[in-house]
Amino acid sequence: MPNVPDVPLDGLYGDLILEHFRGPRNRAVLPDADLEAEEFNPFCGDRIILQLKLDDTGRVVQVGVQSEGCSIIQATASLMSEAMRGKKLEELEDLAGLFRETMRGNTEDENPSADLGPLQSLTVVRRFPVRIKCALLPWVALEEGIKNYRSSQTRDQ
Ligand code: ZN
Repeated sequence: MPNVPDVPLDGLYGDLILEHFRGPRNRAVLPDADLEAEEFNPFCGDRIILQLKLDDTGRVVQVGVQSEGCSIIQATASLMSEAMRGKKLEELEDLAGLFRETMRGNTEDENPSADLGPLQSLTVVRRFPVRIKCALLPWVALEEGIKNYRSSQTRDQ
């Protein structure tokens, strides 16, 4: 295991991250997912399989997450899974974009938009640039899954 600096998880944000790391939400294998993607980051052994089930209006009704690796990816995957339910794919893409820009520090605001909700707790990771990848991996999986889903939809028509 490569030696990577650990993000000190204390304070209000740290508590929320730890809570999701210890008790990850939506940890499940969906047998009939509409959308699925897997991503791997060999740098710290992070891996995620993300699955989504959509209803006939295209909204997320069920999320399945299988993740392993560091506390940051596990907590991010859990927080993300809670933020996804009821949203359409376009809304998820917006959220992914906002999250990425915020994590890269491309927003001027030190306290970024409340639109991120509990995901805002992950901004603590910005102080450890090497770990930002860990927080972005679940979103990469999401975007990859959406892309594959759309191209399979076009194929089917
Ligand atoms: Zn990691």
